[in-house]
Order: sequence, then structure tokens, then C-alpha cells
Amino acid sequence: MRYQSFLIKYAEIGVKGKNRYMFEDALVKQIRLALQAVEGEFEVVKETGRIYANALSDFEYEDALAALKRVFGVSAICPLVQVEDLGFEELKKQAAAYLDQVYPRKDFTFKVDARRANKQYPKTSEEINRDLGEMLLETFPGLSVDVHHPQVMLHVEVRSRINLYSQVIPGPGGMPVGTNGRAMLLLSGGIDSPVAGYMIAKRGVVIEAVYFHAPPYTSERAKEKVVELARLVSRYGGPIRLHIVNFTDIQLYIYDQCPHEELTIIMRRYMMRIGERIAREQKCLGLITGESIGQVASQTVQSLAATDEVCTMPVFRPVIGFDKQEIVDIAEKIGTFETSIQPFEDCCTIFVAKHPVTRPDIRKIRHSEGKLAERIDQLVETAVETAEVVDCGRR
Ligand code: ATP
Ligand code: MG
Repeated sequence: MRYQSFLIKYAEIGVKGKNRYMFEDALVKQIRLALQAVEGEFEVVKETGRIYANALSDFEYEDALAALKRVFGVSAICPLVQVEDLGFEELKKQAAAYLDQVYPRKDFTFKVDARRANKQYPKTSEEINRDLGEMLLETFPGLSVDVHHPQVMLHVEVRSRINLYSQVIPGPGGMPVGTNGRAMLLLSGGIDSPVAGYMIAKRGVVIEAVYFHAPPYTSERAKEKVVELARLVSRYGGPIRLHIVNFTDIQLYIYDQCPHEELTIIMRRYMMRIGERIAREQKCLGLITGESIGQVASQTVQSLAATDEVCTMPVFRPVIGFDKQEIVDIAEKIGTFETSIQPFEDCCTIFVAKHPVTRPDIRKIRHSEGKLAERIDQLVETAVETAEVVDCGRR
């Protein structure tokens, strides 16, 4: 089937008044950006409370559909066939040809749902429904009509041209990126943090990311893996500016000065502090992590409290209540899983103690951090100043 256009549906619940225009304009913008990466030329237009992506040239249908399925805010995508209004007899032929091509097996129940934007059309919607329905029953004897729960609803929109569609392909839902501020994702090479970034981007938040790299303990390959993960997440939320912070000297200093069972917690507190500094410089309003209660020693409720204590920005932890398998399922769905499980060490595993504290006492942690007084400010300063920036993803 050759489609000429897509009708893009979006959920409007809670999006009213002025916000609705913001929502729609942001969605149009994101759809345009997504289609830029697809072969072919498109115009994206808002028309009477609907959004259409019209092809202006030949295009790669599967690629266009895949791109639209990644645009947050889209609840469904309906590929359209547009026919010229050449009289009702011609429309009958076109409607039959449409069903013939889209549905190889003609054994379903259906209903015709006509709408006229063009009120000059010689038939009413009711007449179109009835006459097209009759014709389809005659043409395809295996079909039957079910007006309440049809398996196929053939929509016929009579405008200056006539749109035919029946397929409603689910989109990702969520809110268009750009409608909800900006946040900084602490992105490691693991499974959880890319999923966390995806989930917050899905709520309309622009994502930036920071990765703590510890050469030579973490390899160049580990860094490339994180860059690739940022690129994969950017296919949904748009380009991600990734800040790569050299964390080696800070880790070694903590390793030298502090009790080893507290290393992970203290390191994580410094990741949050540095993440927050870069976040503030980049006008981010929150931090995002892939933490989930109880997953590892550094994610017990006590450890999370100890990590949280150093943050003044809100920390968004969208997978906090998820089991690992639930996170894996999302990672697979969004296409980050295969990259995440490539076996490159991340900086935490190298310095991890045999018996890390699982119930850190915040006063003790603060006391241990006191031993870093001499050099830590300078080391943090240098780490922030020397951060490398990599722009990941389209645009
Ligand atoms: P993930 O699968 O996301 O790596 P994890 O199960 O390995 O998570 P931790 O290593 O304890 O858990 O990390 C918890 C969170 O801290 C991560 O989800 C991520 O947000 C952040 N984080 C951990 N290591 C780094 C790093 N090297 N750079 C940036 N953020 C990190
Ligand atoms: Mg990790």
C-alpha cells in the first residue's frame, strides 16, 4: 500500500487551554525533527485539532513509522491513503482497493466511519457509511458488519481530498520533549540509567548526561559504550549533551583517605555533588539516576538517604520501585539492553570493597569525608573544568 500521510493522535488528558497549544506546538516540532532523519520530504501541519505529517515526496514508510513511534506525546499513528475527490463511484473503488491491499485475509468484521469536513459533498456521512458498507459486503463476501465492536474501522474523512485509514498503530505516549524543563542524567554503562533517562524524557524533559570515567581503571571502550547509550536514548528524547568527567584522581584520593567499606557511598556522594554542579551550569532543574531500592549495597534505603543528603536539587529516580526484570524489559523495548550488557567494567566495580556498608551512618560518612579536606575541593574543581563534552544524537 502506498500511504501519503500520517494522522498523528495524541492524548489530551490534562492538557487544556494555553498548555494545549504549547503541547501541540512542541509535538509538531518533535515530529519534524524525527522525520528529518528519514529519507523523503515531509510537512507537519496542525489542522482542526489534529496533526498530520504529509509526505511531499517518495519516502521510506518503515523508517518514517519507526521515527514517529519514538516521538513522545504521540499516542497513535494512522497511516493515510489520500484520494482525489473524483465522485462517489471512484471513492467506492478506492475504498475497496484500500481494504484489499491492507488486509490479505478478508474474514473480519468492519464498520465504515465517515466524516465530512467538506459539507458540500453530495452525500451525508450516514449515506457514505451505508453505501460504502454495502459495496464492501458485496465485493468481499467474507466480511460482515459489526457496528459495536468492529475488528476494522474504516475511517473516511471527506476534506478537499479524501483520507482513508483503518490502522491505528500505538505511539510511545508521554509528553513532547521540551514541555517540561531540563534535567541531568547520571549515565553509567549499566542497564538502569539509560532506562531512567528514557522515562524522564518521556515526560517531556530535555536530558543532559554526565558520565564518571576513571582511566586507566575504566577503558576507552567503556566510555564509547556510554556514548553509544546516550545516542540510543537520544533517538527518543533528542540530542544529549554528554559531560565526561575524569574521576580517577578523586577515586584514588578517597581510596587513600577513607575506610574502604565506605568507598562506594562516598564516591557516590561526590558523583552527585559534581553532577549537580554541572547540572546547575547547564540550567538543569533536577538530577536523574537509575537507582532502585535494594538492588546493591549502595541502594539500600539508608544508602540512598546518605547519597541524597548532598543534593540540593530534586533527584528523579524513575525506576526506584522496579524489579531488575522490569527494568530489563524496558531496556529491551527501547533498544539499549544489548549495548548495556557488553562487558566493560565501570568505575564503581574496581574500587568496590569486599564488604561495603549497607547501613551507612551519615555522621560517620561526614567524618570520613572530613579527611579529604586538604585536596578535595581542588580535585573537584579540576574534574569539573576538564570535563569533556560529547554531543550525542541527531539534529
Ligand atoms: P546502572 O545499571 O544504571 O549502571 P547499577 O545497577 O550499576 O546501575 P550503581 O552502579 O549503584 O547501579 O549506580 C546507580 C546509579 O548511579 C546509576 O543508575 C547511575 O545513574 C549512577 N552511576 C553509577 N555509576 C556511574 C558513572 N560511572 N557515571 C555516571 N553515573 C553513574
Ligand atoms: Mg552501574
